Parts: sequence; C-alpha cells; structure tokens
Amino acid sequence: MTTASEADLPELDSLEACMQRAVPVLENATSVTVLCHVQPDADTIGSGLALGLVLERKGIPVQVAFGFPDELPISMRELPGTHLLVSADQVRRDVDLLVTVDCGSVGRLGRLSDRLESAHQVLVIDHHRSNTRFGSMNVVDESAESTTAVLATLFDMWDVDIDDDLAHCLFAGLVTDTGSFRWVRPGTHTLAERLLATGIDGSRIARRLLDTHPFGWLPMLSSVLGSARLEPAAAGGRGLVYAVVRREDVGDLRSEEIESVIDIVRTTVEAEVAAVLKEAADGSWSVSLRSKNDVDVADVARRLGGGGHRFAAGYTAYAGSDDIIATLVETLG
Ligand code: AMP
Ligand code: MN
Ligand code: MN
Repeated sequence: MTTASEADLPELDSLEACMQRAVPVLENATSVTVLCHVQPDADTIGSGLALGLVLERKGIPVQVAFGFPDELPISMRELPGTHLLVSADQVRRDVDLLVTVDCGSVGRLGRLSDRLESAHQVLVIDHHRSNTRFGSMNVVDESAESTTAVLATLFDMWDVDIDDDLAHCLFAGLVTDTGSFRWVRPGTHTLAERLLATGIDGSRIARRLLDTHPFGWLPMLSSVLGSARLEPAAAGGRGLVYAVVRREDVGDLRSEEIESVIDIVRTTVEAEVAAVLKEAADGSWSVSLRSKNDVDVADVARRLGGGGHRFAAGYTAYAGSDDIIATLVETLG
C-alpha cells in the first residue's frame, strides 16, 4: 500500500530535504569520523575541521583524517581545529557515522576507503558535479562554490553559531575554491561578508593559503613552464596547453608549489583546455585539467578514471608522460 508520505518521496530528495535529514543524524551520532580527500586542499580540510569543531562542541567523539600524504600541508596548519586530526592508521573502524567532505567518489578517500564498510551510516557532503552519491545519505550541491559553502547552509539549518573559528575554516575553502573570488555567483560575497564580520583576518588567510611560496618556487616554475607545449589542433581545434612537473623539478618543494602551476598554465589564451602532469613518488601521475568555456573537463576526467567540476577536474594516470598526453588528446577529441 502506498501512503501519502511515500508518494511524497521524490520531493524529499531535494537538497534542502537531504540537509534536513542530515541534521538529526549528525546531532544524534554517538561517534563520528570526518574524512577529507587525498592530497587535501583548503576546502576539504576547512570543511573537515569546521564540522569536527561543531561535533566536538556538542560533546560527540570525533576524528578528522585524510588518506594521503601523512602530513597536513603547511599552508593549512593555522586553521582552527587541527587538534582533531589523526593519522590515517589511527582512524577507528567501528564508527557510528562516517562523513566525507569534498569527495566526489570513494577513490578520493585513498587508503581510508575501507572505513566506509564498517561505519553504521555514511553521510556525503560535497559540491562536485561528478559526485557518485556513495553515501547512505548524500548532501551534494553542485551549484555551491565550495564544500564549506554547503556546510554554511547546513550549519544554519542546524542552528550552529558560526563564530570566528568556524568562519576561518569556512572562509579557507571559499577563498581557494572560488580562485580568490573570481568564480562566484550571487550570494558568494554575502557569505564572505558574513564570515569576515566575525573578525577573521581574510587577507592573512588568503595570503597564507594562496600567496606564500619559498624562493625555490621561482626556478621550479622557470624549468616547468619553459617546457610547456601548445597543441592548437587538440580539443576539436580549440587547443590544449600542458606542462609536466617531474620529481626532479620539485626537489623538496611542497604540494603548494606544485599545485600552483596549473593556475599559470590555464591562463594561455590560445588553449581552451590546460593540463598539468604531476609525477608522484611512486611513478604515477596526477593530472590537473582546466577549461574556460565549452569543454566539460569533469566529463573528460571521469572517462579517464577521475572526476571534478565542469571547469576544473583531475585524474590519476599510470603511464609515461607522452602516453598520458596522447590519451588525453584522443579523449578530448
Ligand atoms: P586539482 O587539479 O587537483 O586542483 O583538482 C581539480 C578538481 O578535480 C578538484 O575538484 C578535485 O576534487 C578533482 N580531482 C582531482 N584529481 C582527481 C582524481 N584523481 N579523481 C577524482 N577527482 C579529482
Ligand atoms: Mn577539494
Ligand atoms: Mn571543493
């Protein structure tokens, strides 16, 4: 027999309804693990720490972790809540609620993906277009600027007071995922204003996360950008520009320096698509993709085993750099 409430079910799946259902699940959890994605950025860490702080204040036991690498990127160490971080092997296996933040798919959890099976419930909080809805509950807002922006809405629904510590974490994700407020929509600056009004130092947060590099960054850029290539015929004649960051280019530079390269390469006006190949210690390659107008790089990355957003996506590849470029060119069509 179909009851009136069952007939209403499709409507219950709206984003707002999903959020409304997530609030009591968070509030009543007996223990929580918050997982951020591998090679964490400020959006996943800012989200993880903000949610961790809220749960801690409510007296709920909480751990925050990410699968790789072992250490938190230096630029994120000033974020409030880092005392909640535990190393990947310390993440408990018998948790009541597991929450993933800013993870579009299970693969983004790296070696912590096995923790999904032993959790009683899984809540996915995200803003990726390619999100595979791998949770038992999924709060995915594809139109949100950052996962921290999704959390700000969830906190409001949950009656959480967003103080300066929470605002610091949320602003970190907002300023980085919007490219310092370049990729914005109506409401983005309203949220930023609200977070800044708590008294946080927005300039300091942005400078530390986005504009702080050691001198060695400059010669690294020189060698990497010096070998950049333009393929005007790729992507149906719209053009591909790419650069390769080998281990020997990097030395002891941090992930912050390596991740900055795509932001320079993508400005090339002759190319609709930009790619940066980053060699990992195990010989695999992490590939960053960016587009400007009409190529959906989330779709391209998904076909190559990764994911992301329409204009910013990535995937992992296991081949020589020339072969990776050849496969990418073929996939771009
Ligand atoms: P990045 O180029 O690393 O800044 O990543 C751009 C976007 O693509 C981000 O939203 C990432 O979450 C996503 N992304 C990057 N690498 C991968 C991957 N290996 N698998 C799935 N999504 C990825
Ligand atoms: Mn992210
Ligand atoms: Mn994000």
